[in-house]
Amino acid sequence: MKITPSNVASSDCLFCRIVAGDISANRVYEDEFCIGFPDINPQAPTHLLIIPKQHISSIAKAEAEHAALLGSLMSATTKIARDENLSKGYRIVVNTGDDGGQTVNHLHLHLLGGRHMNWPPG
Ligand code: 5GP
Ligand code: ZN
Repeated sequence: MKITPSNVASSDCLFCRIVAGDISANRVYEDEFCIGFPDINPQAPTHLLIIPKQHISSIAKAEAEHAALLGSLMSATTKIARDENLSKGYRIVVNTGDDGGQTVNHLHLHLLGGRHMNWPPG
């Protein structure tokens, strides 16, 4: 098994390749630390992914040193929600690990809105 440090960008990582511009994505948001772009398989009328430019494999691998980065990801997400006019509400999802349904091992926040969200999730 190849051991990759959780915070080192990898050419094998789909979202690192999007950050690098090797794979195209419509950046609806970008700042120094993160980008936001539409999910390729939307689960709601608005479904965006907000990711750090730095590779962190999942929220489970975030350390205290990432606190400011995590804060900027969350505040970017709420800013995008305002820009997307999700005034009736929205859901922010961070799938984590196998049981959490994470399929891309680069930390990402899903911003879902434009319809009523059910609870509990599946
Ligand atoms: P996860 O299942 O890890 O929480 O979320 C990964 C998300 O990435 C999925 O919702 C999937 O549709 C999305 N995705 C996978 N490949 C691509 C891609 O190449 N471009 C974009 N924009 N989204 C992708
Ligand atoms: Zn990555």
